[in-house]
Amino acid sequence: MKREFTDILIIGAGPSGMVSAGYLQQHNVQLKVVEKQRFPRFSIGESLIPRCMDNFAEAGLLETIDKHGFQRKFGARFIKNELVGEFDFSQKFGEGWDWTWQVPRADFDNILAEEIASRGVDIAFETEVIAADFTKENPVITIQHKNGEQTEIEAKFVIDSSGFGRVLPRLLDLEKPSKLESHSSIFTHIEETDRPDGKEGELITFEVLETEVWFWYIPFSNGKASLGFVAPTAWFDQFDGDPKIAFNQMISKLNYYNGRFDNYEPEFIPRKIKHIAKSVKSLFGKNFALTGNSAEFLDPVFSSGVSFATESGLKAAKLALKELNGENVDWQTEYEDYMNEGIAVFSSYVRDWYNGDLQDIFFHKSPNPEFKSQICAVLAGYVWNKENPFVKKHKRIVGSVAKFINLENS
Ligand code: FAD
Repeated sequence: MKREFTDILIIGAGPSGMVSAGYLQQHNVQLKVVEKQRFPRFSIGESLIPRCMDNFAEAGLLETIDKHGFQRKFGARFIKNELVGEFDFSQKFGEGWDWTWQVPRADFDNILAEEIASRGVDIAFETEVIAADFTKENPVITIQHKNGEQTEIEAKFVIDSSGFGRVLPRLLDLEKPSKLESHSSIFTHIEETDRPDGKEGELITFEVLETEVWFWYIPFSNGKASLGFVAPTAWFDQFDGDPKIAFNQMISKLNYYNGRFDNYEPEFIPRKIKHIAKSVKSLFGKNFALTGNSAEFLDPVFSSGVSFATESGLKAAKLALKELNGENVDWQTEYEDYMNEGIAVFSSYVRDWYNGDLQDIFFHKSPNPEFKSQICAVLAGYVWNKENPFVKKHKRIVGSVAKFINLENS
C-alpha cells in the first residue's frame, strides 16, 4: 500500500480541526487533513458563544469569518409561558467577547476549510479514516479514497477532530457512556419571509415546554432560521413516525412561538439525532489527542459545542507543536485536566438546567444583577475564569441560589 508521511494528521475538517490546522499552519508545521465528506455539508451546531471568538482569533480565522456577514449574536433569551429571562453578553462578568455569530454550518465550515486550504494545507475531502495503528514508533493511519483505493499515512502526531464520527474512540476502544441523561433532538431549517423587526434576530431564543423539553429558534443573516427540539429520548415516542408530521405536532405545542412558523415548509425533512451526550475514557494517548465532539459532547442547551471544539482543537495543536519541537508535554495536566475543568462547569449547568434549578433563577421576576452577570459569563463560555463564583463554585452555587429563591417565593 502507498505510504505518505506528515508531521501532524488531523482527522475531520469541522471547526475543531480547522482551528487546529489554522494554528499549526501559522507555525509552519507540515500538516495533512483528511475529511470524509465533500464540503459544503450540513452540520448542526449553529449558535456560537463568545469564547470561540478568542479561539478563531488565535487560529487566524476571525477576519475571514467576519467578511461573510454572518448574523451577529449578542445574547440569549429563555422563555417559558409568560416568563422571560434574557442575557446580554455585554453585561457579563469579567473580560471577554460581547458577541459572536449564528451561522448555517454548511457555509461556515466550508469558509473555514477553504481558507485553510488557500494557505497551502492539504485537505483530502471524501477520504475516510478506516484504521489506525498506534503500536509502532509513529502512528500509521489507513485512509480510503472515494474510488476505494487505500493509502497509509505515517504521522508523528494525530489530532482526531472527527466529531460524531468519533474515529479514534471507536478504533482504540475509548468510548465511555456519558454520565448525563439520554436526550435526543429533531431539527430543520425554514426560510422566513416575514421575520419581525427588532432584536429577536440577534439572539438565540429557547422556549421551554416542560422542564426537560425545549425548543430553539436561531435566525441567520440569509433570511433562514434553524428550529429544533431537545428532550429526553422517550418524549419523542408520543409523536407520529413521519418526521415532518411529528415536527409539526411538536411545533403546535409551542406557546410563545405558536403559529409563527405555520406557513413555512421545512427546508429539509426534520433530522433526528438520538442519545446526544458522548464521553471517552481519556482525551489523549501516545501520539494522539481527541478534540471537539470526538472527545466529549454534553448537551446542546448552552450552545457550548463549537466553543469546546475550538478550545480543545487549539489547545491540542499548541501542545502537539511543543512536543514536535522536542519539549516535554504533560498531556494529563496541560490538556485533559484543563479541558475537564471547563467540561465540569458546563456539566453542572446542564444538570441544573434539567433539574429545574437554573430555570428557577433564569425566570425569577427580580433577578439579582450580580448573579445574572456572573451566570452570563458562563453562558458566554468563560468557564475557566475562577474569579467568577459561578465558575469556581459551579457544583453547588446554582442549587443554593435556586433554593433561596424558592424559599423566598413560598
Ligand atoms: P464536526 O463539525 O462534526 O466535524 C467533524 C468532521 O469529521 C465532519 O466533517 C466529518 O465528516 C469528519 N469525519 C467523521 N468521520 C470521519 C472519518 N472516519 N474520516 C475522516 N473524516 C471524518 N454547538 C454549538 O456551538 N452551538 C449550538 O447551537 C449547537 N447546537 C447543537 C444541537 C444539536 C442537536 C447537537 C447534537 C449539537 C449541537 N451543537 C451545538 C454541538 C456542535 O454540533 C458540535 O459540538 C460541533 O459541530 C463539533 O465540531 P467538531 O469540529 O468537533 O465536529
